Amino acid sequence: MQIFHPGDTGYDDERSGFQTGLRHEPQVIFAVENAREVEEAVRYAETHGLEYAVQTTGHGLTTTTTGVLISTKRMNSVEIDVETRTARVEAGAIWQQVVEKAAPHGLAPLSGDASDVGVVGYTLGGGYSVLGREFGFASDRVRSTEKVGDVVTALEFELLPIDQVHAGEMYFDVTHAEAVFEAFHRWDLPDHVTPTLTTIAFPDAFPGPLAGRSVVRLTYASTKPFDVDHLRVAPTLVEEFGLKPFAEAAGKPLPPHTYQGDNVLLNDLPLDALHRVREKAANAVVPIFLGLHPLGGALTNATHLLKLISPRLGAEKQHAAVFDEVRSFVVGSARNFRYAVG
Ligand SMILES: Cc1cc2nc3c(=O)[nH]c(=O)nc-3n(C[C@H](O)[C@H](O)[C@H](O)COP(=O)(O)OP(=O)(O)OC[C@H]3O[C@@H](n4cnc5c(N)ncnc54)[C@H](O)[C@@H]3O)c2cc1C
Repeated sequence: MQIFHPGDTGYDDERSGFQTGLRHEPQVIFAVENAREVEEAVRYAETHGLEYAVQTTGHGLTTTTTGVLISTKRMNSVEIDVETRTARVEAGAIWQQVVEKAAPHGLAPLSGDASDVGVVGYTLGGGYSVLGREFGFASDRVRSTEKVGDVVTALEFELLPIDQVHAGEMYFDVTHAEAVFEAFHRWDLPDHVTPTLTTIAFPDAFPGPLAGRSVVRLTYASTKPFDVDHLRVAPTLVEEFGLKPFAEAAGKPLPPHTYQGDNVLLNDLPLDALHRVREKAANAVVPIFLGLHPLGGALTNATHLLKLISPRLGAEKQHAAVFDEVRSFVVGSARNFRYAVG
């Protein structure tokens, strides 16, 4: 195990993650490789009266620690038992490893839209999969957990017999947002389809036809066929839809960047409230991108998950003002979609 203190070569690399706007400021980092070393790190923290935090990828950094950082990225074995359809992963495994090992056996995990997210962090927050409405939360599939203190050192969970999925996306220029939001809201969604609506502004340097454009993006996936023709209410900038290996719907890694985000779970989202949220986010003084996941199907904790993300820090007040438009429908929030917020 490597141990880093401030000023050591490697200290900054070890504490840096996917979130570039914020980093842990630990007194000491334990770069663990097995459960025994996790135990050593936890004991050190407890003996010295220090708090400890875990980092695998840094995707879900909320608040930083000044105590002990347990860096788990080297502790990342993944084993698949095809007979029992079980995966066993260590603390630092990422989804891509599981997807790659499971796919040759016609199996898949309930992973999300970014393959470089950590399996344990994602699952501890419930885990909203790209097939969530069809199969439920990733956490529902956990078969056993191994822990040292608050650190999960290994997780065993069920894999599903999923090989190919019907999945795709449509991009529209943001000038068509009102019509696209309305069509999305009107969708008589089959329980087996998991869709997402997002707004995003692509940087000028982004390769391809979306460079420099503000867009509305719709994505959808299911193991069963479904129709999306009714969503094509304006000219699409980019569009694709078809039967593909699960790995292609399971998301590609993004480059590390600075972002702040929060979310609310809602028990209703009338169209007029959705339009107010859209307008308020679009007119905010900081860029705010919106993500909307209709729940229902096998995700029964609320009717909608509404996320706001800004490509910078310090946007809490602007996010709160947008959430105010749906405050009367809020029933909670999802731990997974809180980024760089206390
Ligand atoms: C681009 C992007 C796409 C995403 N897509 C989805 C999605 O589709 N569905 C979804 O549900 N979520 C999604 N998320 C959210 C993601 O699941 C959470 O941010 C999750 O916490 C990330 O875990 P991590 O280990 O990668 O990140 P880290 O920042 O390394 O860890 C986040 C937190 O998880 C906890 N944690 C991690 N490992 C352990 C451990 N071994 N023991 C105890 N606690 C631990 C700690 O509290 C830690 O602070 C996405 C996030 C991003 C940035």
